[in-house]
Amino acid sequence: MPASERFEGRVAMVTGAGSGIGRASALAFAAGGAAVGVCDIDTEGGKETVALIEEAGGAALFVHTDVASGDAVRTAVDAISTAYGGLHFAHNNAGTYSMALTGELAEADFTRVVNVNLLGVFLCMRYQIPAMLEVSGGAIVNTTSIWAHTGMPTQAAYVASKHGVAGLTKTAAVEYAAQGIRVNAVSPGYIDTPMTAANPPDAVAAVLARQPIGRPGRPEEVAAAVTWLCGDEASLITGSVVNADGGYLAW
Ligand code: NAD
Repeated sequence: MPASERFEGRVAMVTGAGSGIGRASALAFAAGGAAVGVCDIDTEGGKETVALIEEAGGAALFVHTDVASGDAVRTAVDAISTAYGGLHFAHNNAGTYSMALTGELAEADFTRVVNVNLLGVFLCMRYQIPAMLEVSGGAIVNTTSIWAHTGMPTQAAYVASKHGVAGLTKTAAVEYAAQGIRVNAVSPGYIDTPMTAANPPDAVAAVLARQPIGRPGRPEEVAAAVTWLCGDEASLITGSVVNADGGYLAW
């Protein structure tokens, strides 16, 4: 089967699809023939992603979605399923961060990060799973991080939320395996995206010194893992946290 047909007739929902890893994943699903629901709080970025998909001959729909709102996520899942006749794949990827030592982190910043990164992934799965059961199964990939595995100074909220995403992923995987829904997570290392672009050079150098491939990852390299996890080739894989980290966690 040509690569452009592997997801033909299927529908994917990607959050944080207006930028970085989510945009690359939305483009990758579309390149495989899926219709894509592009979800983001950034309307301009989301519409740009839709335009890129359409320019390449694919089908996509932007749905303004704050993943920290259950109402917004339920509406997005309904809109995408209605527009394209179901939901088969989801990449729950929207994320944010806040930098401060734990003893100095504002409660509001902790809550904001956890609401997007962790509650957001729960809310997405909460509404995607019933939609996938209606089409007799599907595949979900949640974006976690290398910081789902270790601590990271100044990143308490982010690290806590990403550890939580790994736990949510494994739990849903066990719950729905028998009903044909696979749930995995992808754990990126340091990837060149707008999120990391503002990092100070010394901080980037320190992280890259621990990323054995010696370079940042590209969003497309993470997207390749996401679409592989959603494809039939990964039929045995559920409940896994797959590292796309250039070897970061290997030492
Ligand atoms: P990015 O900033 O380029 O993209 C994040 C997107 O999420 C943006 O378009 C943003 O508008 C959207 N978003 C933020 N809050 C949202 C909300 N409440 N609802 C909907 N959308 C929202 O960043 P990225 O690097 O592509 O990050 C994507 C994911 O990958 C995040 O979960 C991030 O934590 C994770 N990650 C990134 C790296 C990296 O090195 N870039 C490493 C590990 C994990």
